Amino acid sequence: MRISKKVLGLKPSATLAVLSRVRQLKIKGAPVISLTVGEPDWPTVSVATEAGIEAIRAGMTKYTPSAGIPELRKAIAKEALLQTGIPYLEAGVCVGAGAKLLLFSALQLLCDPGDEVLFFSPYWVSYPEIIKLVDGIPKAVEMPEESGFRLDLDRLSSAINERTKVLLLCSPNNPTGVTLSREELEGLAELVRQNQGLTVISDDIYNRLVFSSERSAPHLLQVARDLKDRVICLNGVSKAYSMTGWRVGWVSGPEAFILSLSNHLSQISTCAFGVSQAAAIAALTDGEDELLQRLAELKKKYDWFVPALNSIRGFQAQTPDGAFFLWVRVNDFFGKRGISDSKSLAFELLENQFVATVPGSEFGVEGYLRMSISVSDEDLREALRRFEVLSKSIFPT
Ligand code: PLP
Repeated sequence: MRISKKVLGLKPSATLAVLSRVRQLKIKGAPVISLTVGEPDWPTVSVATEAGIEAIRAGMTKYTPSAGIPELRKAIAKEALLQTGIPYLEAGVCVGAGAKLLLFSALQLLCDPGDEVLFFSPYWVSYPEIIKLVDGIPKAVEMPEESGFRLDLDRLSSAINERTKVLLLCSPNNPTGVTLSREELEGLAELVRQNQGLTVISDDIYNRLVFSSERSAPHLLQVARDLKDRVICLNGVSKAYSMTGWRVGWVSGPEAFILSLSNHLSQISTCAFGVSQAAAIAALTDGEDELLQRLAELKKKYDWFVPALNSIRGFQAQTPDGAFFLWVRVNDFFGKRGISDSKSLAFELLENQFVATVPGSEFGVEGYLRMSISVSDEDLREALRRFEVLSKSIFPT
């Protein structure tokens, strides 16, 4: 059997690869602390769990319409109005089995072979691979390190050419947590207006996990309603409601696009699991209190962990605007004791200190590690102790 060149060329998910090594070490009895995972450590919001159990009992275990249960589409439209200011109808919303699948499907709809898809670097590890799967050309536009990887419009503008089809935005960003401000989004909107052939996919998966007083991260459509027919919003219950395994995501956008998307999904996945859709309705309608409580807890973690981490020589990080990661500068370690890059540092930390992190190079930028802060305080404290052991062994005072 010969696997296609396209699939053979796929890079396996870096985070999942580290996770499998963590599992091996744990089986051998190593006291591993994993700061790698892209999911909250708190349980699924309880209203969703209860609704899910009820839905199983009620027999919601059959096919649903491919674009999703109407009540869920209505609940999403309500939520999307709050997040974007756009009054989507049910026909402007399509549900699918997770934002990742929907991104694949949306890109499949938009890209002809050779079309370029731009995204900001550092970037989520799956973007380039999904773009390649749909025969698009991934083009990472590196944001300047000096500004903390914030949007640089000149760099973005010079990356656009006649083959550019899609701009993929992610705010709050995975891995940096950088969240675009209204001013930055206004500048971006102007650039989109100047480039008529460009469609924007706004990956909003972390946009409820923000530490400002706002309900959700500022959105391109909030500052540029005129672009509503050129912006496709991608979101889901995975991160905000800790429902990663339930696999419910959605897209809101122009109705003709949504219709094609639902046709496409009907051929590749039929529908999202009905029980999960029922749980998602409960999360969206009644999950707010729990979400806010978890968000406050997450903020507290940053408040004590970031200064403690920064007090250890070799580690430098800033509390991000959103999501639950830390993008930690570690290049002071490079050139010391065989550590040449983020991959070898992550290896050293995992194999000798039993702390799993993800090398920055996996996200397109060298010199950093990504750490998930959504683990117990106890594990975070122990991770700090082990970082200190490594740091003292490398930078003796
Ligand atoms: N977009 C980004 C930036 C992510 O980090 C993730 C998950 O890690 C997703 C999308 C996919 O989320 P889902 O669980 O809905 O597929």
